[in-house]
Amino acid sequence: MTIVPESAIAELISAEAAFDAVEATFGAMARGDAYNFPVIREAIGHADALYGFKSGFDRAGLHLGLKSGGYWPGNDAKGLTNHQSTVFLFDADTGRARAVVGGNLLTALRTAAASAVSIRHLARRDAKVLGMIGAGHQSAFQMRAAAAQRDFEKVIGWNFHPEMLSRLEETAAELGLPFEGVELDQLGAEADVIITITSSFAPTLLDAHVRPGTHLACMGTDTVGKQEVEAAILARATVFTDEVAQSVTLGEAQHAVKAGLIDEADVQKIGDVINGDHPGRTTDEEITLFDGTGVGLQDLAVAAAAVEIAIERGIATEVAF
Ligand code: NAD
Repeated sequence: MTIVPESAIAELISAEAAFDAVEATFGAMARGDAYNFPVIREAIGHADALYGFKSGFDRAGLHLGLKSGGYWPGNDAKGLTNHQSTVFLFDADTGRARAVVGGNLLTALRTAAASAVSIRHLARRDAKVLGMIGAGHQSAFQMRAAAAQRDFEKVIGWNFHPEMLSRLEETAAELGLPFEGVELDQLGAEADVIITITSSFAPTLLDAHVRPGTHLACMGTDTVGKQEVEAAILARATVFTDEVAQSVTLGEAQHAVKAGLIDEADVQKIGDVINGDHPGRTTDEEITLFDGTGVGLQDLAVAAAAVEIAIERGIATEVAF
């Protein structure tokens, strides 16, 4: 069995490698070659922790396994990350344990890769301004992965907690892009691509803010009740997602479906666009919206890539198991 610790992930997996793994996974899901098993998430009644599993099988990539993880709010005080994840991979032919892989950085990389995949396939080619809503841990990863997809000339951002905007400014500087903190109406008026990555439970971006031609990647809503954008936007947009069942129950689309503005059949699989089975954006005026809910297969794909690279470079730790 191979062990790849959290500390090794940064040097093993680039944003590009994560992009390729996630794009292939979404394609396999849309072809019916890969599926996610039901998610388990429990409040365990200890340390205020939420703990659970995301798992699945990709018959094309032969990725079988699970991500075990959750949220421990007291970790910060102990100098640890509140979100803790570990990926376990199994041999699809024998069921034997194949690898244990640190999953914290991989989670950020695979989430950023998902919105980047949506931008590559759905944003207008001439997109120049990237709008960021959210300035938490994930936002920097999101901005870096997005910046690789179009020739952005500028990043503008808004955050519920304005004091956190410095993270966006620093990340933009790292990318050699100017950054400006703006109000939401200016963000909607100027941005060609908007990423939302917040833990909000009420809409931040309103329908009136969004102009024709915009691509939105809504990445924060991964739980029943969370919401980042007004449901009316989804009625105006062509809506795409990683997994339709999650999108309409716990993703951004849950609210538009509940309000009767769209139904499940209106939500398209991003994998169909990747596979050439859906045209994606068809006009420059169309609003496209990717509802990125996050699936276990993304975790398995990036973890398997990390294992493969670690073995190739001869730095994987092998244990008899
Ligand atoms: P974080 O705690 O570091 O940052 C939270 C962000 O949400 C900050 O920008 C904060 O200002 C903002 N926020 C907090 N309360 C708000 C409110 N009431 N209204 C508007 N904004 C508010 O979190 P993070 O690690 O950056 O994750 C952000 C979100 O992304 C979380 O909801 C997380 O569950 C979700 N997430 C989704 C996926 C996926 O695959 N879709 C993967 C990882 C994380």
